[in-house]
Amino acid sequence: MKKARLVKKTLSAFLLSLFLLSLFPGCGEEKAEATLFVMDTASTLRLEGGKAEEALSRMKEELTRLDALLDAEGEVLSSLGRGEEVRNGELAALLRETLRFSRETGGALDVTVNPAVEAWGFRSGNYRVPSSGELSALKEYVGWEKLSPEGDLISLPGGFSLTLGAVAKGYAGDRLRAIAGECGVKRGVLSLGGNVVLIGEKQTNTGWSVAVRAPEGGYALTLSLSDAMAVTSGSYERYFEKDGKRYHHILDPQTLSPAENGLLSVTVVSKNGLLADALSTALFVMGPEKAAEHWRTYGESEGFEILLLTGDHRILASKGIVPHITGFGEGYGELVIIE
Ligand code: ADP
Ligand code: MG
Repeated sequence: MKKARLVKKTLSAFLLSLFLLSLFPGCGEEKAEATLFVMDTASTLRLEGGKAEEALSRMKEELTRLDALLDAEGEVLSSLGRGEEVRNGELAALLRETLRFSRETGGALDVTVNPAVEAWGFRSGNYRVPSSGELSALKEYVGWEKLSPEGDLISLPGGFSLTLGAVAKGYAGDRLRAIAGECGVKRGVLSLGGNVVLIGEKQTNTGWSVAVRAPEGGYALTLSLSDAMAVTSGSYERYFEKDGKRYHHILDPQTLSPAENGLLSVTVVSKNGLLADALSTALFVMGPEKAAEHWRTYGESEGFEILLLTGDHRILASKGIVPHITGFGEGYGELVIIE
């Protein structure tokens, strides 16, 4: 079990869907840097300016704390899965936020899909294709509407359990950004798996260079971003193959099977990390048309932009992100602007 998790972690470390092209500019200010394995992924934290050292050690502690709190196999989520009541104000608030996204995306984000995540073997690493009968039987134990934290009290109906994999790193990114702010960190790059948090600017009026990975290797496009979080959910991040067919880890809560709609990845850029993470998963499930419609409805009011990568090598980009695109990878020139 431990071994399977370790393999999974190592794999995801190599399969970052977003990667940074920027190197840290040299400068006389306090610098701090660390790499660690948390939340099933390799994270690198690089900070500069203010109390960078103090910020780094607080960030490491915070990641360890959140890893335990939000892990599907951790104490808190395990007790919930056994039908026990849990009192935890922070988790209740986080769940309320994710439920808002479930509502707004018509249930495409559903943290109660955990029984299906387990049935496909995405937790243990013992991958298998469940029968359609098994999946329809599991539907009884999936449904975000059944989840309603009251104050700080959380409980689940029998047979239900939670996975916060779709939102944990985004929430963690928000927490780390807050720490950076409290410590007066001037600039920094935090990479939590496929989630990149950019603090400040690389240099005055210069953004950080971030690349969106192409499934076949290399990158699809590069972006210049400052003070934002960029999160990618892709079908090539975690998957297995069986009888020549590929099964990835983002499940359509309607079918409890991997979402299939022509999308290879969804990148969401926002100052709100939880939103970016929640929506990258949800829009991936919704498919290109509904994802574009979701951006038209909520993009401006909630403050986010989207980039969709399709199987036929097109890039669909919401209007506001277009000026941030600095280049395309080989085979990825076709840009469709969503407005
Ligand atoms: P990653 O964790 O690779 O960055 P995501 O943020 O897209 O990718 O989250 C995927 C994880 O979320 C899965 O591993 C699974 O645990 C969980 N998950 C899968 N499908 C859904 C869904 N429709 N809604 C909520 N969580 C999901
Ligand atoms: Mg996500």
